[in-house]
Amino acid sequence: MASITDGLRALAEDMIATMQDAPGIGLAAPQIGVLKRLIVMDCTAKDEDPAPVALFNPTVVWSSEALNTYEEGCLSIPEMYEEVTRPAEVRVTFTDTSGEQREEHYDGMWATCVQHEIDHLNGTLFIDYLSKVKRAMITGKMKKLKKEKARA
Ligand code: ZN
Repeated sequence: MASITDGLRALAEDMIATMQDAPGIGLAAPQIGVLKRLIVMDCTAKDEDPAPVALFNPTVVWSSEALNTYEEGCLSIPEMYEEVTRPAEVRVTFTDTSGEQREEHYDGMWATCVQHEIDHLNGTLFIDYLSKVKRAMITGKMKKLKKEKARA
């Protein structure tokens, strides 16, 4: 296991700031063009103190049979929200910013978020879980949006 360098810690801090600015509840390094297995997230409620976390090399080692459906959005697919069903609880192993190997149990919004972000590391977007028709609709809308932006 490679140790967590100052550079990686700085990257994690940058990503947390980017996520908070967006604002979003999660961000994966590939979303900002960095091919590292690093995700950050903070699923605390608006009236709670922020508690951002950074997970290096996160891996789902257990997922519950019980499922949960949340409306998901993604900073990579602006203004699109669709319901996605995933395991309701997961256990994830990862390395934290101090280089410590950890295992965490996530449920609720945190479970959905950590799975969504780990998907990014594997090149999967939440729209990949939708039906072909819905996906075609969304990619069509995104293309249109890009064209409009290019014209602006
Ligand atoms: Zn996303």
